[in-house]
Amino acid sequence: MGTILLFYKYVHIENPEAMRKWQRGLCESLHLTGRIILAHEGINATLGGTDEQIATYVQTMEKHGLFGGIDWKYAQGGAQAFPKLKISVKEEIVRLGVDPNQVTVADTGVHLTPEQVHELIRTKGKDLVILDTRNDYEYAVGKFEGAELPPIKTFREFPAYVDQQLEKYKDKEVLMYCTGGVRCERATAYLVQKEVAKTVYQIEGGIQRYIEKFPNGYFRGKNYVFDARVAIRVNDDILANCTQCQTPCDDYINCTNVLCNKHVIVCSSCSVSLENACSPECHNLILSKQTKARAPFAKL
Ligand SMILES: [Zn+2]
Ligand SMILES: [Zn+2]
Repeated sequence: MGTILLFYKYVHIENPEAMRKWQRGLCESLHLTGRIILAHEGINATLGGTDEQIATYVQTMEKHGLFGGIDWKYAQGGAQAFPKLKISVKEEIVRLGVDPNQVTVADTGVHLTPEQVHELIRTKGKDLVILDTRNDYEYAVGKFEGAELPPIKTFREFPAYVDQQLEKYKDKEVLMYCTGGVRCERATAYLVQKEVAKTVYQIEGGIQRYIEKFPNGYFRGKNYVFDARVAIRVNDDILANCTQCQTPCDDYINCTNVLCNKHVIVCSSCSVSLENACSPECHNLILSKQTKARAPFAKL
């Protein structure tokens, strides 16, 4: 089946453009697909390939002076999980929209192991603020019990949200989490710099590492990921409802009306009757287009 490799590292890269060329050569020689983002502040990547190709990539990276000690994460998948290979150079490896020289991992929150996180939630419960740093469509299908859920569509909106809520974190212990940990490295630093919270924590390796240790723990539902798998079931809780019929459902579809293409939760019976459209409106549009396309033949 193959492997999906996920990793990041905050490390100073003097020449991200030269690194981009090196990564491109390496990935193309191994026929990997996926996405790599490079910046002066580091590297963030998701790649797909055969088990052997991914193993060779990891070995090569580990020999490189900058990329030792990476927490490699593996999932089942392969090159087919991504449409192509895309390597880009940006200001930040995850876009928080804040100057990477101002908010750096030098101020990052305290890393806790999954076991320490589990114990913290078990013992602190109500005194602890658990803050999700992900987007609304991610936590819609899975989240930590009792977590605060910022109404954001992208990570760039997170700083403004935190700015409005600072009172809430005053003298509190705050545990922040995201999918694999990369967003929290700087999101926690952002809150630490506000100097309001007593302690700011993050999960080492994010939700992914926590659910490996505690599949039936405080994280409920599905873990949303950014590849063809969409969301991985962690336990039996279903947190969302079909947007059409409201029955419990946590499966996403992409609307087949290409002008809409909305990423929405629709149950299997509704998606059959709507032919994978997100709504009756989009379904009608698709039907009317099909009618128009058939029209010339109908006249014959
Ligand atoms: Zn439905
Ligand atoms: Zn639609």
